[in-house]
Formats: sequence, structure tokens, C-alpha cells
Amino acid sequence: MKTIVIATNNLNKVREFQSLFGNDLIEFKSLKQIGYDKEIIEDGNTFEENAYKKAYQVSHDLNVTAIADDSGLSCYALNFAPGIYSARYAGTGSDDDNNRLLIKNLEGKEDRRAFYSCAISVCHPDGTHLEVLETCEGLIIDEARGTNGFGYDPHFFIPEFNKTFAEVSLEKKNTISHRAKAIRRVKELVNEDFSFK
Ligand code: IMP
Repeated sequence: MKTIVIATNNLNKVREFQSLFGNDLIEFKSLKQIGYDKEIIEDGNTFEENAYKKAYQVSHDLNVTAIADDSGLSCYALNFAPGIYSARYAGTGSDDDNNRLLIKNLEGKEDRRAFYSCAISVCHPDGTHLEVLETCEGLIIDEARGTNGFGYDPHFFIPEFNKTFAEVSLEKKNTISHRAKAIRRVKELVNEDFSFK
């Protein structure tokens, strides 16, 4: 069985990959499960660069195939901020603080168009790698609605659903979400053992 390390400590992400790719040839492990605690500085200028940096570092250090993702929210009226700084927008690491700052910065702005992006990088120990990037478009509303999801979801409104991402189930979110689309794209590009097609 081949071990594939997901460069994250978020067990939800490990489960998401497991459920989409799970087979008898591979097992997914988080960084914690493999005992890897080296800090990886996300100092790239794009989602793809940050995802590649994380996947490359882990793959190189552990001599395994590694997968990493990087995601965030971009608002048209804010020159595409918070972008790669989405997780640390307000500087406190709190989703509530990030949301408050987002709504404050959008005050008086008519253009509420925004999109989530998700980049995924897959790196093999021989140095070969691939990156995918997928997006999901929505509108930012001032009022927080719903309790599902995480991050900016209570303010991320999908006109087609007439609901925010925090008001729909994960299954429904995954029909159009940036992360689910990126995972599906990776699936199209790799074989069952994760070798590239
Ligand atoms: P990371 O990719 O785990 O570093 O997270 C990036 C940040 O982007 C998160 O902390 C959230 O603030 C935001 N983000 C990315 N994807 C989503 C999503 O699906 N819903 C809500 N917020 C998201």
C-alpha cells in the first residue's frame, strides 16, 4: 500500500480526499499522523505557489507523494483581497474577526461579486508535480446567514441557491465549491495509485 501525505492537520480535508479517492492501493495520512511538525512558510504570491510549496516540502522531506491545498476568498471591489491572506485577514486567526473586517471594508461598495479559489498541488518524490486551480463565484452579503461551513461562508451568497454556503449542507456546497471542483479535477489527472496520466 502506498502512503500519501496530505500536507494539513485538518482532518476534514483528509476525510474529503479519502472519500473521493479511497481505494486499496493508497492510504492518506495527515501531517500529525506521520509525526511531521516542521513549519512551512506560506510566502508564495499565488494559491498555486503556496500549495506547491507545502506539497514539495513534505514530499521532499519524507520521500513520499504529498498533496497540499491553498484556498481563499477574493472580492472584486477590494482589488481581489483578502486572497492568499484570507485565513489571516484580521490578524487574529478568528473567522468572526475576518468577517467583520470584510464587511467593514465593503461598506458603501456596490460591487459585491466575489469568488473562492482552491489550488491543489500533488508532488511525487521524484520531483514531478501538478497543480490545479478551481473557483466558485458568489456575492458578499452584509448579514451573516446560516451556521454550516466555516470561514466566510455565512456571508457568501449563491444566487442560484438563494442561500449562503453556511445555509446549505456540505453535499450541496460540494456540487459547486472550489475545493470539491479542484479535487474532482485532480481525480481526472491521476491514476488509482496517484501516478500522473
Ligand atoms: P487554507 O486554504 O486552509 O489556508 O484556508 C484559507 C482561508 O480561506 C480559510 O481560513 C477561510 O478563511 C477561507 N476559505 C477557503 N475556503 C473556504 C470555504 O470553503 N468557505 C469559507 N472560507 C473559506
